[in-house]
Amino acid sequence: MSSHRVRFAPSPTGFLHIGGAHTALFNWLVARGQGGKFILRIEDTDKERSTDASTQAIFDGLAWLGLDWDEGPFYQSRRSAYYAKALADLAAAGRTYKCYCSPDELEERRQAAMKSGAKPKYDGRCRNLTCAPNDRAPAIRLRAHETGTTHVRDLIRGNVAFENAELDDLILARADGSPTYNFCVVVDDADMKISHVIRGEDHLSNTPKQVQIYEALKLPLPAFAHVGLLLGPDKQKLSKRHGATSVTAYKEMGFLSDAVVNYFARLGWGHGDQEVFTRAELIENFRIENVSKAPAVFNPEKLAWLNQKYIAALPVDALAAHLAEFIKPRGFDVASDGRLPRVAATLRERAKTLVELADQAEFYFANDVLIDAAAQSKFLTPANAPLLKQVRDDLAGAPTWDVASLEARFRALVETTGKKLGDLAQPTRVALSGRTASPGLFEIMEILGRDVTLARLSRAADLARNSN
Ligand code: GLU
Repeated sequence: MSSHRVRFAPSPTGFLHIGGAHTALFNWLVARGQGGKFILRIEDTDKERSTDASTQAIFDGLAWLGLDWDEGPFYQSRRSAYYAKALADLAAAGRTYKCYCSPDELEERRQAAMKSGAKPKYDGRCRNLTCAPNDRAPAIRLRAHETGTTHVRDLIRGNVAFENAELDDLILARADGSPTYNFCVVVDDADMKISHVIRGEDHLSNTPKQVQIYEALKLPLPAFAHVGLLLGPDKQKLSKRHGATSVTAYKEMGFLSDAVVNYFARLGWGHGDQEVFTRAELIENFRIENVSKAPAVFNPEKLAWLNQKYIAALPVDALAAHLAEFIKPRGFDVASDGRLPRVAATLRERAKTLVELADQAEFYFANDVLIDAAAQSKFLTPANAPLLKQVRDDLAGAPTWDVASLEARFRALVETTGKKLGDLAQPTRVALSGRTASPGLFEIMEILGRDVTLARLSRAADLARNSN
């Protein structure tokens, strides 16, 4: 049995952010690669900001990415007994003291310290109180070491040392009795026997505080790994300015979750020059020790490139199912249309997202194909009207309606007219698809069927004749 026990511990204060999903994935890969356990813990102690809708959004985001968990979800809001017990243990060991300074007083002193150029840390006023005010409830602080160094041994960053003199006597429980964030995290990670705490670099400054709590509770330390933050292409912290930051937005924009997982895995981690990984390959090769400490740049274009590869490689029936889902909101309920897999097959190499796939598929199903204005004025011209009519009449006589015979017939017609293939093919393409770029002409004809093909050619010939 592997000793790897890792966790994802989101605060349910919004949707599942790309950065959160990135660290969730790294944890999941460690668990799956090492035969360990992936634990989900909802850090909902901030009652004001935590919502059930956000918790649900986190579940939905993880489910879409296929990051399943083995234990949990645990909710910090339901674990007060564990925090109370740990607090009592620390008090019994003489490692806490009561602090009567109010938040306002603390803030005032912090401001004053900053003004005078001193460190804005707690001044230790209540550390050795002999007489306590009886008109206030106290907060509980950790009696931290005042000298020496706290080391964070990080699998990605090496040893990061923090001078204890720089660290506060951390508040473990507020005056209203509620335990604080860093304290709950330690109690939970210890209770859940987390072996590797893998989280974003933004938490690195919390870690020495948490290490001090582990030591005070005489608990063994987990291994730590702080993953570099995600930046936008302009090297600034990833934010809405760079595009969607919620994982489910990528689902709605037509990304495949396998492509997103593949792309996230490559942010800060690599395996030679390989870009495309199956999940099994990721699980086999991913090592948290090989994650880079430099921040990674989230590049939506690269993700789109990868998505295109995944779309092209998807089995056609699966792609057809996605297409049905994405084209439905446009008024085309075609899930049971037997032509759907063939439609998907003609477009699979052409779309970067499922939204683009649906865009490009519309012409197959539309009653009146929407003709692009530029394509119309270039190709549906009076000069082309007789050609379109000729194509229509010639195809009307086709004894069989399949790609090979349609192509043979069309080429024979080109020959008779003495024109070039493109002279007939482009107006025909615009007539059938409304565009100048489309899948193969004869595939389109086969899928549309004889009646629709001929009707579109007639209509285009009319448009052409009447244009000027
Ligand atoms: N709840 C914290 C957050 O959402 C994560 C805490 C941790 O991973 O230790 O940022």
